[in-house]
Amino acid sequence: MAKKFECVSCGKNPLSKNEIGITKKLLGLDSKNFFCLDCLANFLEVEPQDILDKIEEFKNEGCKLFE
Ligand SMILES: [Zn+2]
Repeated sequence: MAKKFECVSCGKNPLSKNEIGITKKLLGLDSKNFFCLDCLANFLEVEPQDILDKIEEFKNEGCKLFE
């Protein structure tokens, strides 16, 4: 059962599995607030590309939170 999450900042809905996964990775597994890629980058004051790089990194480690 896939729950639908939306970005708490801009309301983008639904978020992709990668966006949910990276939010959990960077903000904590029990985070109730999820962000889309752009808003997460903005929140963490990094470039969206940095987030994409992180997602690739976690994927390469075989993390199941990402697709
Ligand atoms: Zn957003």
